[in-house]
Amino acid sequence: MDLQQLESILNDMQQPAYRFKQIKLAVYKELKDSFGAIENIPLPLRRDLDRLVPFSELTLTTEQQSTDGSVKALFAARDHVSIESVLIPYADGSRTVCVSTEAGCQVNCAFCATGHLGFTRVLTASEIVEQVLYFARALKPRGERVTNVVFMGEGEPFLNYDNVKSAILLLNDNDGFNMGQRRISVSTSGIVPGIERFAAEDWQVNLAISLHAPVNGLRSILMPINRTYPLEQLMPALDRYVARTNRKLMIEYLLLGGLNDSVHNADALADLIHNYKEVLRLSVINLIIYNPVKDSSGHPDRFKAPRIASLRAFEEVLNKREIAWTRRASFGSDISGACGQLAGEVTPTMEEPRDPASAGVSGGVGT
Ligand code: SF4
Repeated sequence: MDLQQLESILNDMQQPAYRFKQIKLAVYKELKDSFGAIENIPLPLRRDLDRLVPFSELTLTTEQQSTDGSVKALFAARDHVSIESVLIPYADGSRTVCVSTEAGCQVNCAFCATGHLGFTRVLTASEIVEQVLYFARALKPRGERVTNVVFMGEGEPFLNYDNVKSAILLLNDNDGFNMGQRRISVSTSGIVPGIERFAAEDWQVNLAISLHAPVNGLRSILMPINRTYPLEQLMPALDRYVARTNRKLMIEYLLLGGLNDSVHNADALADLIHNYKEVLRLSVINLIIYNPVKDSSGHPDRFKAPRIASLRAFEEVLNKREIAWTRRASFGSDISGACGQLAGEVTPTMEEPRDPASAGVSGGVGT
């Protein structure tokens, strides 16, 4: 729902000022799914609003459930643009929604299914928040709720900063969804002006950086944005972010077999982190195992998952160099809902993981 439109229509209808707050609470707190269901406003008003204000910006197109319990939802916006989100259920009972901030992406990382589909447009704050509301409504009958939101789906959040900020404030609003700021995380590919702006915000929202390579040459191949904001600009910006906020920084490192997963790469990564004392003091490297995918014509992926021996050796170097690290659980790879796979037409390979015992299992902090 477009709240500005709602407010202006209520004003035009000369409704009392409390009506807006009443409806906002009903939608974002009580999770009502239509004006008709908001029983504490008069029936004629509900009927008028039904005619004048679209209740939803998004319509569900399909929903896929993974064998691991994660759920991917595909929505159509009012202009028919496709938007994808994933609900990730964790064993500890937490329920995380991974939201998209753009339809497609402008950044075009080499390993990313979304990047390959190009960019359509940025999403509005309402379109971002409604991805969360959809899953919140689905969980409610089971007595469950969305506990965390991560801005890690399609799109680069800092290339849609204003709408992302409005969505965060709406999720955090006491008269709205009322989610704690510490339960919200934003992940960037390394847009330095966005990091500076985020660091200056008066909030406790978490920041994650997708690093994926410890040197400019390799990082520019994997993430072309590195040509605009190379490591010598990115790392000092992250150092300043940690110094200013005193908040833990999550450093995402996607392990691509034979490309960035050698002990040499691990040493270079440790060197890089040790060069920035604030980042070293308060960051955790999150190792992510790449999920190979086939393209829509069935061609195999040009990137591979790391071999288990490489993974172990990489982690061992980080341990020796006293770098904090963790290994992210991988969810939804069978429904293309895993990291870097949020893009409508991509189908996953059904290749066995190289280490079934470890693939998709969190490794814990391994300082
Ligand atoms: S990894 Fe993120 S920033 Fe890179 S192309 Fe994909 S969606 Fe965009």
